Amino acid sequence: MDEARISRIIDDGIRRYEQASPASHALWRRAMAVTPHGVANSLHFHDPYPLAIAAGRGAYATDQDGRRLLDLHLGHGVMVSGHADPRITDAIATQAARGTHTGALSEAVVEFMELITARFAADQVQLCASGAEATSLAIRIARAATGRRAILKVEGGYHGAHEAVMVSTLPDLAAAGADRDPLPVAWGAARADPDTHVIPFNDPDALERALAAHRPAALIIEPVLLNAGFIAPREGYLAAARAACDRAGAVMIADEVKTGVTIAHGGAMRHFGVVPDLLCLGKGMAGGVPVGAVAGRADLMIEVGEDRAPHYATFAGGPLAGAAGCVTLRDVLTPGVYDHMEHLGHHLADALADALAPLGAHPLHLGAKGTVIFGPIPSSYREFERGADLRLAYALWLHLLDAGIMIAPVEDELQWTVSVAHAQEDLAAIGDVARDFVARVLA
Ligand code: PMP
Repeated sequence: MDEARISRIIDDGIRRYEQASPASHALWRRAMAVTPHGVANSLHFHDPYPLAIAAGRGAYATDQDGRRLLDLHLGHGVMVSGHADPRITDAIATQAARGTHTGALSEAVVEFMELITARFAADQVQLCASGAEATSLAIRIARAATGRRAILKVEGGYHGAHEAVMVSTLPDLAAAGADRDPLPVAWGAARADPDTHVIPFNDPDALERALAAHRPAALIIEPVLLNAGFIAPREGYLAAARAACDRAGAVMIADEVKTGVTIAHGGAMRHFGVVPDLLCLGKGMAGGVPVGAVAGRADLMIEVGEDRAPHYATFAGGPLAGAAGCVTLRDVLTPGVYDHMEHLGHHLADALADALAPLGAHPLHLGAKGTVIFGPIPSSYREFERGADLRLAYALWLHLLDAGIMIAPVEDELQWTVSVAHAQEDLAAIGDVARDFVARVLA
């Protein structure tokens, strides 16, 4: 690949981005006075400056400059139900008119919890206000139940921003030790949590060794690594991890915050036929209202009820999340829509595979989620980190946006989500836009 040419394409893409988004730029400059880096939280930042989104409807979003964009970003996959579905907005408006917060049990929340336990084949559930709150609660429950302190996490796995799991999320490999025996690397300036140990994905032997060495309370694992490219479990890996946790007396926590309502109707673990002890949920379960949940075995969930794993959270299980969550799970994200989204994902991956083949790209997809990897299909974080051309991915991201197609603005994972509201016609232009990109790269 001609690196100088890619640099020129990126520079040109940034110039076009700036020309197309002066109102986003102005808003960002204004925000800079009151918040570091000009964004309310760092997830909203991306190069060269954040695109501000004013509205969304169905499969489309409108940016601050009034440009209509095909939305395959969908708020980091949260809006898998599509923007502003009237069934969800009506439920939110109706509940808002009756009060947005009560700090008490409500009927809608009980129904929401019934829908969650049935859908994910869990005995019981606790609600949270975010994915990070869910993963931190699941770890607390595992520690209370086992009396152990250590936890294992996967290198390249992401579980939210709290100290126990802010370890080896996207570590610099120069600091991360041997491939099959990774060293924990802190994310941020703090020292890595000494109770957190790291294993490579898709390596059952390394997991066995770590379980024996550290006697952890839990293994926390994403069924598909979706925060470092798109790394699927090898055949039998999750089942082997399940069996190894059982032998070692460790709780298996599946982090399905990203996959729970995007991969298949009952989540990714159900799709792969493996039952975890605890499941963490979040993102799109309540149509965009902040939500999280830990669901799982009653004999573990009792740790919360008996206050050995205390869970106290003002906004967890609030009435807005309850009202929106019931409609989202019961009426919008029904079993049938997963066939539709799988079909769209397949179509999109095929179109991109065909168009981008000359650049050695591999589109991968599962359910509503997919990505393009410029390099070999990875089976671990290190393979992704060593093999994927992230500059090409960023250049394509800019190129798609210029053509009115928005994918999640994370330069190192060109990840898309399709929604219930997307139709095949909405995706019709993508193949040609990608072919045009290839022509520019190879010209
Ligand atoms: N776990 C996974 C797998 C995630 O992808 C995320 C967010 N991207 C989280 C946990 C944290 O969720 P939240 O940002 O809602 O805290």
